[in-house]
Amino acid sequence: MKKNFHSHTLYCNHSDLSVEESIRLHREAGYTVLGISEHAPIPGYTDSYRLQEDQVDEYIDEVREAAKRAEGIEVLCGVEAEYIVGDGEHLEYLRELRKRTDYLVMANHIVGDLKGGEFVHFSRNNPEPKHLKMNTELIMEGWNTGLFAFIAHPDSILKRYRWDKYAEEMAHEIGRFAQESGAILEINANGIRYGSNRSEDEGTHAYTNLNFWRIVGEYRVNVIVSGDTHFKRDITDPCVDEAVELAKAMGLNIVEDFRDI
Ligand SMILES: [Zn+2]
Ligand SMILES: [Zn+2]
Repeated sequence: MKKNFHSHTLYCNHSDLSVEESIRLHREAGYTVLGISEHAPIPGYTDSYRLQEDQVDEYIDEVREAAKRAEGIEVLCGVEAEYIVGDGEHLEYLRELRKRTDYLVMANHIVGDLKGGEFVHFSRNNPEPKHLKMNTELIMEGWNTGLFAFIAHPDSILKRYRWDKYAEEMAHEIGRFAQESGAILEINANGIRYGSNRSEDEGTHAYTNLNFWRIVGEYRVNVIVSGDTHFKRDITDPCVDEAVELAKAMGLNIVEDFRDI
């Protein structure tokens, strides 16, 4: 049974998949469930790589309509949302989003003060140990809200961070937390697709980060493997299978569907 709960569409401006096309191609590739999880807006912060605030209704309507028409595949309407602010207003916003969708994926790509202060973007800036700490705390706090189905790419903050004792602490903290809370962590095929895990210094400065997952694998942790599909070619490439192999090699327990837990 192939299921993918993490996928994107033209709405995020870095995808070549319309909603219809993604559903058709996933079905043709043998998927029985497709969750569409577009990048949600961050109130008070604008970038072009996500749904704009005035597109949310249109996005939800389009996915819901397409889901009704879809045959041979179950389609869910979700969003991928940052848990970065941790204040009441942001939480209220997430609660509203959760009510209107089938599920929320927690995925931080940025931490810090987005309202005019200092922040780091995981793909563009080099984080410091304090950012790792901040992100880990947000991940734990975010999961404890009960709003999220799983935690996407918890190692992506390490994209531009050289492995050290703080990264090691982070891996233990997240592993321990996931074991105790039952949080589902995601192994993301994009980390294989574009990641540097095959580089010389295997995992020391990388995402998907092998050092991270090796430590997390010391705990009893559930993981979900997802495609994070943005492009047509992602739907059939071998990266999901490679991510599954990685999860097995690290001794992680693979969950096929977060709704089973
Ligand atoms: Zn994306
Ligand atoms: Zn994504």
